[in-house]
Formats: sequence, C-alpha cells, structure tokens
Amino acid sequence: MYFTEQHELVRKLAREFAEKELTKEILDQVEESETFPEEILDKMAKAGFFGIKVPKEYGGQGADARSYVLVMEEIARVSGVASIYVSSPNSLSGGPFLLSGTEEQKAKYLTPVVKGEKKVCFALTEPGAGSDAGGMATTAVKDGDYYILNGRKTFITMAPLADWAVVYAKTDMTKGTKGISAFVVDMKLPGVSCGKPENKMGVVGCATSDIILDNVRVHKSDLLGEEGKGFINAMKTLDTGRLGVAAQSIGVAQGALDEAIRYAKERKQFGRRIADFQAISFMIADMATKLEAAKNLVYKAAYLMDTHQDASMAASMAKYYASEICNEIAGKAVQIHGGYGFIKDYKVERMYRDCRVFTIYEGTSQVQQMVIAGKLLKK
Ligand SMILES: Cc1cc2nc3c(=O)[nH]c(=O)nc-3n(C[C@H](O)[C@H](O)[C@H](O)COP(=O)(O)OP(=O)(O)OC[C@H]3O[C@@H](n4cnc5c(N)ncnc54)[C@H](O)[C@@H]3O)c2cc1C
Repeated sequence: MYFTEQHELVRKLAREFAEKELTKEILDQVEESETFPEEILDKMAKAGFFGIKVPKEYGGQGADARSYVLVMEEIARVSGVASIYVSSPNSLSGGPFLLSGTEEQKAKYLTPVVKGEKKVCFALTEPGAGSDAGGMATTAVKDGDYYILNGRKTFITMAPLADWAVVYAKTDMTKGTKGISAFVVDMKLPGVSCGKPENKMGVVGCATSDIILDNVRVHKSDLLGEEGKGFINAMKTLDTGRLGVAAQSIGVAQGALDEAIRYAKERKQFGRRIADFQAISFMIADMATKLEAAKNLVYKAAYLMDTHQDASMAASMAKYYASEICNEIAGKAVQIHGGYGFIKDYKVERMYRDCRVFTIYEGTSQVQQMVIAGKLLKK
C-alpha cells in the first residue's frame, strides 16, 4: 500500500545483501570479538546504505524515508547490530548536519561518513541527563575564536570508533534549552577521551562509551547551526531518528517470527510438531498480527515524512509500539524454542538481547507516550 515497485527493489537488494554477507558465522564472530568487520562496513558503504536519505550532492542516494525503512528492516531482520551502522549516518550522525550544517560542514563531515571513510557519533545524553536531555551540564564557553568545552557524555554509540562527535553543550546556562548549542568535535583534539566501552547485554559489535571533554578548544567554525539552537537540532534529529529504531524493531521482530515458525514446524514433542499444539500456533498468530500492525505504523510514519506531512506523532507511535512488540515477539520466539532458545547457538537468543535496548534509546517508551499524549492533550 505504501510502496512502489522501486521500493520493492530496494527491499530485495537489502535482503539479498543481509542474507549473503551477514552469515551466522560472521555474526557469531562479531559477538565474540565485539567488533564488526570493516570489510562488511565497506560493502555496506558501496551498496549505498550509509547515505540512503542523504542528498546526492553530499554523496548519498537521495532516496526517501520508505527506502531507509526497508533497508533498516531487512538488515535488522538478520542483524540488529549491523542495522545500527546503517542508521547512524542516515539518522543521528547525519541528521544534525542536514538540519543545521553549512555547505562547507556538510562537505567536510557528511560526505566522508556517507562514503564509509569516517564515523560520526551523536553525543547528547549525560550521566545526569537522559530522558531530560535539556538538563545537561556540559558547557561551552566562548574564548576568542574558540569555545572551551567541559563535561561528560554517556552511552554514546560508536564513540570509541568515531572520528568526530556532534556534541551538545550549554553556551548560556541561564536560558535552559535555549542556551544549548551543537558543536562538531574532532575526537583527536586535546582533552577529548572515551570511557571504557560498555559491557552491553545486546547489539554487541558496535562499541558504546562515555566521552569526556576536558577543556577542549573547538574552533567557532565547528559550531553547528546558530548558538542557542542546538536543542532544536537534537530534538528534530531524534524526531526522524525514531523511525530508524522503529524499522529496526520490525526487522528484528520479523527475524524472530521467522525463526519461531521454522522451529515450530521442525520440533516434535508428544509425537507431533509443536506447531500442531494450539498454544504454540496461537502464540505465532498473535506475534504475526502484532507485527503486521507495527509494520503499518512504521510504513505510515515514513509515508507521512515522504509526503511532507507532520510525522512527529506517527513516528513516536511507530517507535513506541514496534519496539515494545519486538520485545514481546522475541520473548515468545525464545519460549517456542524451549531450552534451545536460551542457548547462543540459536539466533533467537541474540535477537532477544539485541532488541531490549529498542524501548530505551532514542527516547524511552515512556518518553514516546509523553510525546503522543502531549500532542493529543494539547491545551
Ligand atoms: C546501547 C545504548 C546506546 C545509546 N546511544 C546513544 C547515543 O548514541 N547518543 C546519545 O546521546 N545517547 C545514547 N544513548 C542514551 C539513551 O538515549 C538514554 O539511555 C535514554 O534516553 C534514557 O536515558 P537514561 O538512560 O538516563 O534513563 P532515565 O531518563 O533516567 O530514565 C529511567 C526510567 O525513567 C523513565 N522516565 C524518565 N523520565 C520520565 C518521565 N518524565 N515520565 C515517565 N517516566 C520517565 C524512563 O522512561 C526510564 O524507564 C544510548 C543508550 C544505550 C543503552
């Protein structure tokens, strides 16, 4: 309903890529080594996955939000962590530049990221400012042609791998969120360091760490957008970024459902396929129905974006529902696998762990409920 033939070709390309390149052996190695193979990232870049939504003049594909959703869904169906590498340049890393970057900044930072030559991370969260990101304590004090940044960002996806970080900091402590500005920080600048990579429950293979900023001198040419407009930049980036997590969620959920169906048809107990027990078959019917509903929310949000309609509430609904039901579906897929679902040899074990963060990052489910309720109950 929401897709053209061209979109279906994009889905086919992404599915073929995922099935060919993201084999079980590779994904087991990723879990073991906690690193993602550079050669696969290169292939993703060559396939155009890092710049799906980025305009052609900056090296991207100039495609629409629906194409982005389809690629994310198909990659996440096989590997949640691989889909983070796709989402980052299209969403949290690329978004701030597309929204507020000068032509020079876009050429300097966005293009190499889209080509897979460099990595950018998005540094908003702090130890004391998660859902309430506006309560951040990181400061940026003007000093001639420079800003001096001090503070600590936490849980930053890809920080230990990144060349640059988009850092949000307070240039005016008296103005609340209107005193927040965005900066591009070179991770090699004196005073920048990363905390230890977090030992995570899932999406292993894409390092997450703190970024510590200790009297970091950032040139004024690396102010991203106007002073005081950083919070708007972050919120708008997250607004569209939510679609990526929603797409990740339907992808992992589809992968878990596929595995559950396959296993239920194979496994025999009491002399019958477990699929023939109504308790199992109804569980599968329930999983498939909820996934279909989630897909429609995600596709609708992408369609609204593509047709330049207000997609803010739709994206929140999609992220909220898809991430919640993904957790439910992955949990049921483990249940259908019985004891084997608890064992790392079976794909559902990884899917169950990977999707746990989907209801947390880029705005928790409770934050999405706040956004949705806020729109509905506006005075
Ligand atoms: C693996 C991973 C990767 C991440 N990557 C990034 C990244 O790249 N960049 C970045 O900036 N951040 C990143 N984050 C941070 C993530 O966005 C935050 O963890 C998230 O926003 C929640 O913040 P918090 O963890 O401080 O939880 P808190 O905000 O402390 O929330 C704790 C609980 O309280 C609830 N809660 C909070 N406020 C309210 C309220 N008003 N009403 C009802 N309930 C409420 C929350 O929903 C949650 O259940 C990442 C996190 C993880 C785990």
